[in-house]
Amino acid sequence: MSKPKVFITRPVADSTLARLSAQCEVSFWPKESRCPAEVLEESVTDVEAVLGTDRWTAGLMDKSPKLRLIANVGVGFDNVDAVAATQRGIIVTNTPDVLTDTTADLAFTLLLNVARRIGEAERFMRAGEWTMLGGPATFLGTNVHHATLGIIGLGRIGAAVAHRALGFHMKVLYYDTVRREQLEKEFGYQYVDMDTLLGEADFVSVHMPLMPETRGLIGDAQLAKMKPTAFLINAARGPVVEERALISALREGRIAGAGLDVFEKEPTPTNNPLLKMDNVVVLPHIGSATVATRQAMLDLAAGNVLAVLSGKPPITPANPDVLSRLKK
Ligand code: NAP
Repeated sequence: MSKPKVFITRPVADSTLARLSAQCEVSFWPKESRCPAEVLEESVTDVEAVLGTDRWTAGLMDKSPKLRLIANVGVGFDNVDAVAATQRGIIVTNTPDVLTDTTADLAFTLLLNVARRIGEAERFMRAGEWTMLGGPATFLGTNVHHATLGIIGLGRIGAAVAHRALGFHMKVLYYDTVRREQLEKEFGYQYVDMDTLLGEADFVSVHMPLMPETRGLIGDAQLAKMKPTAFLINAARGPVVEERALISALREGRIAGAGLDVFEKEPTPTNNPLLKMDNVVVLPHIGSATVATRQAMLDLAAGNVLAVLSGKPPITPANPDVLSRLKK
């Protein structure tokens, strides 16, 4: 019997390739750069599974009639039209849990960096400007310890960020679509409505997925409710914050700063005003980017491919509704 065909669009370790090749006929995009849309389209005409982080529209799915699985390498799967996939009986899987702590570390790094003006101070020093002690170069920052952290979306990553905050004796407020009563009891986190969170937090960190309901969730009105001394941290998805509104709030000093791992458009244009602001720490979407975590994500994605193509349930389905209407 011929092996099922799989197309991979991002670099994978030899061990992952060998694991997949034992049971599948594997082809792949050989470069580090993103697989161009036209190459993707040509490469998926007769595959049963794809592994990567590509944009999957209904139109592309229709060009891949044998497709049974989109194994997304990432927990957020807003790059895939999951509704269209479900309608077509295509399973979508993601990679939850294995990246939670790594992404939480990065979100907290952004918070510390922007509060303590690390990027600004480092740029100053590397530019050879540290020529005298004291004076204007003392880079007075904002205390993180004992400050109030407001988490929007106390899911896996949000809760892991909150956990880190406890070590800094921070007060943790959260807003989510559901109460996390166990976490409230165990760690003293306080559930508040969004306006209270925005009004009281010294640091607002967003951790909800990008969905139609969360697109632009933080806009002019929400930023206006934040304290002028408060910082916004976004290591979730760029479009949950309206970038234009954020730029205005920062320019006008209506909030103190921002730490951003994600942008409305990625890569963000080099003339994005956020890149020029000293009170903004910017990173090129590296939330889960450690060697070990990226491998764990690939292992999980490959595990999903092997499970589904051998007729077993996916390990981490992102559109579980599809399971009742699977392609045979
Ligand atoms: P998760 O466990 O599903 O947590 C998301 C939380 O947000 C859930 O508690 C969810 O509640 C809540 N939520 C949904 N809609 C909301 C709303 N309108 N207002 C407030 N809360 C809302 O997901 P996760 O694993 O923590 O990942 C969160 C996101 O982080 C991912 O979707 C991804 O976009 C992003 N991420 C970014 C990076 C990076 O490299 N920067 C890395 C990993 C993940 P319900 O469960 O009730 O819907």
